[in-house]
Amino acid sequence: MALIVQKFGGTSVGTVDRIENVAERIGKFRARGDDIIVVVSAMSGETNRLVALAQSINEKPDAREYDVLLSTGEQVTIALLSMALNKRDIAARSYTGSQVHILTDSAHNKARILDIEEKNIRFDLQKGRVIVVAGFQGVDESGNITTLGRGGSDTTAVALAAALKADECQIYTDVDGVYTTDPRVVPEARRLDKITFEEMLEMASLGSKVLQIRAVEFAGKYNVPLRVLSSFDEPNFTDDGANGTLITFEDKNEENEMEQALISGIAFNRDEAKLTMLGVPDKPGVAHNILGPIGDSNIEIDMIIQNIGADGTTDFTFTVHRNDYSTAKDILHKIAGELGAREVVGDDKIVKISLVGVGMRSHAGIASTMFKALADEGININMIATSEIKISVVVDEKYLELGVRTLHSAFGLEQAS
Ligand code: ASP
Ligand code: MG
Repeated sequence: MALIVQKFGGTSVGTVDRIENVAERIGKFRARGDDIIVVVSAMSGETNRLVALAQSINEKPDAREYDVLLSTGEQVTIALLSMALNKRDIAARSYTGSQVHILTDSAHNKARILDIEEKNIRFDLQKGRVIVVAGFQGVDESGNITTLGRGGSDTTAVALAAALKADECQIYTDVDGVYTTDPRVVPEARRLDKITFEEMLEMASLGSKVLQIRAVEFAGKYNVPLRVLSSFDEPNFTDDGANGTLITFEDKNEENEMEQALISGIAFNRDEAKLTMLGVPDKPGVAHNILGPIGDSNIEIDMIIQNIGADGTTDFTFTVHRNDYSTAKDILHKIAGELGAREVVGDDKIVKISLVGVGMRSHAGIASTMFKALADEGININMIATSEIKISVVVDEKYLELGVRTLHSAFGLEQAS
């Protein structure tokens, strides 16, 4: 018997039939004797519908009222799911974020969870009830309803699991786990039985959208075993590795480490653009003078490259989100004269492809295998960045599919490790 937090996303509760299916599934866990806390999202499409309603009144609606509106989506689902459970004689109670008392700060639309009141939940669990909690919402100190940012139900689930020291937090979605890469790009992509928090964070922030990044960070920080699995598969109570993808800590056991795949996955991001300031006089403060104004405009910078200036000047390149490309370019044009730069150039038809794997730490030669595989396909690399567990390259967007497929097979990711 275990304490399990189960989170069901929008598609998993998208219709009444699906909500009934979720109730059936919960019943099977209850029958085993597990204690269950359920977190649900709004029915699929509902949050978007509410956003559109708000924006039909005001492009930038009042942040407090926006949260009051958006939080209603989840309130519908908790009630419907509890009804479906009760119909099956599975005792259940629904709770909004403020009823559980998920205390957050007051940053409307992107609030952070500060504390969760355990008492009421424990009481219900002792009474043998399934607790059905609205994801994505909380309440601030003054009693205002807050929401956690789009996709925030994952974070609610992980926070509840952390607060109650649950044995596992299961995130049910419309895919059956985390894949070596996007199967729409590489049909041979394989579901991973396991991935580390660190790798998952890289995969998530590099553009794999299975889990909300903040939820993964939270789970890693509080050591909550996290499992991604499909709500359309039958529950599998065996430990045969066919149970979604477990996100967990690195296995430091040496024997297992040997078996650990070098590369866990390939992430990619299509939303990249790069900008270069050519021929800037190379002196202290160049990076600050260029990137300062960019940062002041709240534009996030990803990769940065500065080469060695042979003739006393340097070329300075960085990447930004494609949406920020034209604003960033305007800023560079504005400051170019002042900085004595020769020219500003840019390209918003680029993508980033990244290899991710904790095995990189202890193995050399990964980068050269990667670069050779790309070169053999005639793919030119524009930029390179590395960290301990990832290597990213920027290439022309027309090479995205070819690049990802090439690397996937160069590292044998289609074969079970
Ligand atoms: N319903 C919210 C959204 O669509 C929260 C979530 O689903 O996680 O963003
Ligand atoms: Mg979601």
